[in-house]
Amino acid sequence: MPALLNPRRTVAELKELRALTGDENGAQRIAFTPMWTQTRAWLRQKLAALPVKIHTDAAGNLWTTLRGESDKSLLIGGHMDSVPNGGWLDGCLNVLAGVEILRRINSQYCSKPPVTIRLVDWADEEGARFGKSLFGSSACSGNLNMNEARGLVDKQGMRLPDALKNVGIDFERVKASGQELKNAAAYLELHIEQGPVLLDLDLPLGAVLGTFGVERHAITFHGQAAHSGSTPMNRRKDAFLAAAKMSPEIYQIAEPSGNGVCTIGSCTTKPGIVTSVVEECRITLDQRHLDAAKLAQMLHEAKAASEKFAREGNVLVSWERLWQIAPRPFNDELIALCEESIRETCGKSHRLPSGPLHDAAEVASAGVPTVMMFVQSLHGISHNKIEDTKEEHLELCVSAFDKLAEKTMHWLHSAR
Ligand SMILES: [Zn+2]
Repeated sequence: MPALLNPRRTVAELKELRALTGDENGAQRIAFTPMWTQTRAWLRQKLAALPVKIHTDAAGNLWTTLRGESDKSLLIGGHMDSVPNGGWLDGCLNVLAGVEILRRINSQYCSKPPVTIRLVDWADEEGARFGKSLFGSSACSGNLNMNEARGLVDKQGMRLPDALKNVGIDFERVKASGQELKNAAAYLELHIEQGPVLLDLDLPLGAVLGTFGVERHAITFHGQAAHSGSTPMNRRKDAFLAAAKMSPEIYQIAEPSGNGVCTIGSCTTKPGIVTSVVEECRITLDQRHLDAAKLAQMLHEAKAASEKFAREGNVLVSWERLWQIAPRPFNDELIALCEESIRETCGKSHRLPSGPLHDAAEVASAGVPTVMMFVQSLHGISHNKIEDTKEEHLELCVSAFDKLAEKTMHWLHSAR
């Protein structure tokens, strides 16, 4: 009997999709554009041979349902949309692995698996056009801020609600998509890592612990402008000096936190001319950690450091929060099943947090037990046409992810 799962077919379909929706600059499947609609038509064709129901929900997410003996549902998710000039694997690898798993389960269980299996292609995960990522999944989880989203405008001046109307979505109703999660009992997502951790460890696959919480702040130091020639060094109130001292400090803060990361991503000075001591210096700080207490500790230490450097330099400092999101830890039992699946497939597993947010974080926040699996990224780079993964690793990840789906199905079936 031939094997029911054919990971090679997934790799071939990824290449087919790349040829169909990419150009010399990379993938061009930007959400809510004609190319995106074409991508979904192609996906529907791939699913046509299966006894599944396919529908689009109120937020434009595409659901493929293989009914099982129970309504209790195992969800497998990904996103067919890409950033402009994107990579060939980000998002669609997850969906196409899910298609292959649907085929395998359908054959093995003669179209009646013990639980219902649902594949979801989330709408506009990337947020490339309107600057707001996780659109479809955050509408579904209920986290989408309607007032903020209503005002989003793309570079051509088109409002998000109008762009949605063009593809048949009523913006005011998008949260009705939440009903799709009614019977959701577990959510699985495979993804290319988008970082270099597995590459550096020389491991093909990893189990993801959750997505980082984020604290994003603007820190402004207020000093005094003064002539660069006539003001002695000991008489200056140099806002830049205090800000600059933060730079090595954030490495000191991140180091003992374990997996935490801190970034000063921008720095602007006023008056910003060569002949003046800096009066005002604004830097931005982005801090991330999987553990809420450790994230709070990193923020506390950064505030204390800024106050110390301000005092030393005889300047003032003020903080403004730009954005914040709580860590979204994944389900412990599913993390264990994920590691088990990886070990059975390629011997060794590794647990790692996810720096980027994913649709899985939204599903987890809605209370659905969730886990993600990462496959090694060759250059540790995503959102770029050079994004790549070895073909043997792509085949391994489909096999391991399929094992995880099978284990999760039994985990759900045996629970209460
Ligand atoms: Zn993605």
